Amino acid sequence: MQSRILLITPPGSYRTFAYIEAAQSLAIDLLVASSGRHSLVTPLVGGLHLDLDDPVALHRLLEAGRESPFAGVIATDDQTVEIASRVAEALGLAHNPLGAARFSRRKDLARRCLDKAGLPVPRHRVIDLRTPLDPQLDGIDYPCVVKPLSLSASRGVIRADDQRQLQAAILRVRALLAAEAALPSEEKDLMLVERFISGPELAVEALLHRGQLQVLAIFDKPDPMEGPFFEETYYITPSRHEPAVQFLIRKRLEEACRAYGLREGPVHAELRLSEGDAWIMEIASRTIGGDCARLLRFGTGHGLEELVLAQAAGHPLPAVPEQGGAGVLMIPIPRHGILRRVEGVLAARRVRFIEDVEISRREGYELVPLPEGASYLGFIFARAPTPEQAEQALREAHGKLNIVVAPVMKITDKR
Ligand code: ADP
Repeated sequence: MQSRILLITPPGSYRTFAYIEAAQSLAIDLLVASSGRHSLVTPLVGGLHLDLDDPVALHRLLEAGRESPFAGVIATDDQTVEIASRVAEALGLAHNPLGAARFSRRKDLARRCLDKAGLPVPRHRVIDLRTPLDPQLDGIDYPCVVKPLSLSASRGVIRADDQRQLQAAILRVRALLAAEAALPSEEKDLMLVERFISGPELAVEALLHRGQLQVLAIFDKPDPMEGPFFEETYYITPSRHEPAVQFLIRKRLEEACRAYGLREGPVHAELRLSEGDAWIMEIASRTIGGDCARLLRFGTGHGLEELVLAQAAGHPLPAVPEQGGAGVLMIPIPRHGILRRVEGVLAARRVRFIEDVEISRREGYELVPLPEGASYLGFIFARAPTPEQAEQALREAHGKLNIVVAPVMKITDKR
């Protein structure tokens, strides 16, 4: 019998398409539920339009599951992990408990949870902008980092080295949160401030099944990320850190998933190595994301989303990683402005070991860097015999690109 999977996705998610393709290749019947204004419905994929913030959404999803049963439920993004948990629970399907899903979305609750479990956690506090700020800043350790409670992709994450910088950063994050239409109003006045943990950062992609964690890949981030903003750039796998360090990373991640109560499905985590330990920066209960996930191919030729779908459908696939090195560069946004063109793409593609150069933004698009920006300019992918060669190829290919950006003209009426 063909399995039917429910995929719950917020509008504009860049993970949806990878799941649709993966479902097609595994002949899985995918119901895509989203509040996107533009339909995702194709002859091969059924779509359900609903307002995911409306309590009625849960009933409609349960109804859809009763009409034609699902074998599993998948959330593509942080915004949909909680509703996915509720639907799966009500339908008696494997899922992450609601509390665990919430920890993977809310940074303040997650910090508290890890602290209680005795894991290494930076000293942190929640700042509430509805009450006087100065007393709340007493006794903060510098350097520190201020961040929204629930945005992603490093948006609004700012390092501050003293109180003056922290005050400026808080105002900047407040303006960003005020403009976020999709954010619950109680999260617009709250932000997390925590000690800055200096050290190399890694990302881990893993899959949980009945509480067992299987690490699929550990990525090194070879460029230092010391702030004030934290743009993602190079991800290189397999990790070149010593086996003992990789063991520590797995152990801390397992402990943290257990502390959150996460049990099922994909996990994307970021950790920092500092003071002889591996510090969890965050754990999300979703995949790394459609474009970057292209890097991960497993022994049988399957991709990440296929692994996630197959497991949700009750037929897990073996996940033996392919040999050799692979890497992606999330092309940095050089500055704020209007994208005119990207020169040198062909030359970058011709660099040895480069698999693809993908420019995601078209001419005329306003490029907004971090901490406010929300989108990627594009990606360069490499696959090589070793991770060193993959990294070198990405650096060389990036050097061939010339990203032409024009200033944004603000029209002011002088009459
Ligand atoms: P997001 O969910 O938006 O990615 P994170 O909390 O993971 O937000 O922070 C994004 C990045 O900011 C991290 O990957 C890390 O590089 C940096 N960062 C966040 N918190 C800290 C911290 N306490 N110490 C050092 N770097 C941090």
